[in-house]
Amino acid sequence: MAKHIFVTGGVVSSLGKGLTSASIGLLLERRGLKVRMQKMDPYLNVDPGTMSPYQHGEVYVLDDGAETDLDLGHYERFTNAPLNRDCNYTTGRIYQTIIEKERAGFYRGKTVQVIPHVTDEIKNCIRTLATPDVDVVITEIGGTVGDIEGMPYFEAIRQFALEVGKQHCLFVHLTLVPYLKAAGELKTKPTQHSVQEMRKIGIQPDVLICRTEKEIPRDDVDKIAVMCSVERRAVIEEKDREFSIYEVPLSLLDNGIDALIVEKLGITNARPIQFDDWQEMVDGIRTLAAEPKDRREVTIAVVGKYVKHRDAYKSVYEALDHAGIHHHHKVRTERVESELVEQHGPAKLLASADGILVPGGFDKRGVNGKVEAVRYARENGVPFFGICLGLQCATIEFARNVLGLKDANSFEFDKDTPHPVVCLMDAQKQVTKVGGTMRLGSMDTKVLPDTLAHKVYGAEVVSERHRHRFEFNNDYREQFAKAGFVISGTTPDGALVEVIELPNHPWFLGVQCHPEFKSKPTACQPLFRDFVGAAIAARQKKK
Ligand code: GLN
Repeated sequence: MAKHIFVTGGVVSSLGKGLTSASIGLLLERRGLKVRMQKMDPYLNVDPGTMSPYQHGEVYVLDDGAETDLDLGHYERFTNAPLNRDCNYTTGRIYQTIIEKERAGFYRGKTVQVIPHVTDEIKNCIRTLATPDVDVVITEIGGTVGDIEGMPYFEAIRQFALEVGKQHCLFVHLTLVPYLKAAGELKTKPTQHSVQEMRKIGIQPDVLICRTEKEIPRDDVDKIAVMCSVERRAVIEEKDREFSIYEVPLSLLDNGIDALIVEKLGITNARPIQFDDWQEMVDGIRTLAAEPKDRREVTIAVVGKYVKHRDAYKSVYEALDHAGIHHHHKVRTERVESELVEQHGPAKLLASADGILVPGGFDKRGVNGKVEAVRYARENGVPFFGICLGLQCATIEFARNVLGLKDANSFEFDKDTPHPVVCLMDAQKQVTKVGGTMRLGSMDTKVLPDTLAHKVYGAEVVSERHRHRFEFNNDYREQFAKAGFVISGTTPDGALVEVIELPNHPWFLGVQCHPEFKSKPTACQPLFRDFVGAAIAARQKKK
């Protein structure tokens, strides 16, 4: 029978519940357990797919095409737990199911209510993952205890523990132990209040993970344990990481969280931990951080329009870091606002870049700045990597500046362009509904032999995740090809362009997919690996 861990948060948001959940998942997997991971988001959107990256950061796409919260990205980067659309529920989606059932007469005349109907539905979502082969299901509850929106989830997990037996469930609560400069000390009161809030709902946390910037003195740990009625050894300090998010599992491991969980849940099939590769990876990051500035460093400019939001291109930044880990180089990511490229020109803003990456995006704001960045990379031999909208910008740039097609554009940005080099390939397709209607999820790409893409992937068929609506316009294929623009990957039937490249350039490649979703710290995605490798080579040449 599967055991359940519920991860909740208190005091403030953005404590890193996702990272902590992922870290716990990793540690349990490394003890030989089969883990499943899931996140509940208490907002009314059916999924985050329709939300601006400014709201919730990146939309993370799964193999099955589910558009999910970015915490699922952490789950995938840390663990091998398979993820699908059952791994991220929102209040909107839960209500949608309930309302559809109500319309179909499922409730047989009953009044449909938050308790029991919404809470029952939440419990069903949790049970979906608890198949007989699974040892532990980790369910993270988004938001902070006490939020009105989150109430049904807390009520549901309280009931769940009652139903399956408390001995099979563990409540892990994350709190903040802030350091007050004026007082010169850490404060435990917010943690106490947060646990009181949990108790009001009827949940006594079993484990407290205390986020802190300084080491928590023994006396304070004692105080937290007594006041919150949590065993002392279950008050676990999670200090701010020094260099990398990949240090979080190590800090939890040092505090013995894996052994504690195994014991408290009565898990009998855990083996001793095997963690050497992760430890080695983190050791690598730490030795690199100790290198003098400018040594083993490479600068990648990411030219986008959501650069101010740290999480908007989360997986792209992570994949660049993974490439850095692979090449044992610090990747300095310069976030360049594409509108500034429009205003000041690319030379000024991109001069220090060893490689230029244009990530995905929507709507026309800042697009011309991205096109200018592509031009700069193409003309100056700077390694260029275009992802989704990045490929589309490279297409527009080539049309305008090499083929001389004035005002060439994507149909997305200019409905009247004389040259829609990027368009909806199915012209009849009217976009009347927004949510979940893009080309979504993992799809195969046929890679042409003797191309950069083929060299990098080392395979003829590859699978990557997609999230887009517009395509390279096939009417222009011949014209582009004649001018040296290589289409090096297509859908298996050849109908849609997937990868483009320019052979007379050190490294210039664009993909319609989002390869960043398949990168891990211990196994960098090949395109990111090779792009950063090319940027390192370019930097060494400059010297
Ligand atoms: N806006 C473009 C499209 O829909 C690109 C999307 C993306 O970059 N994810 O095709």
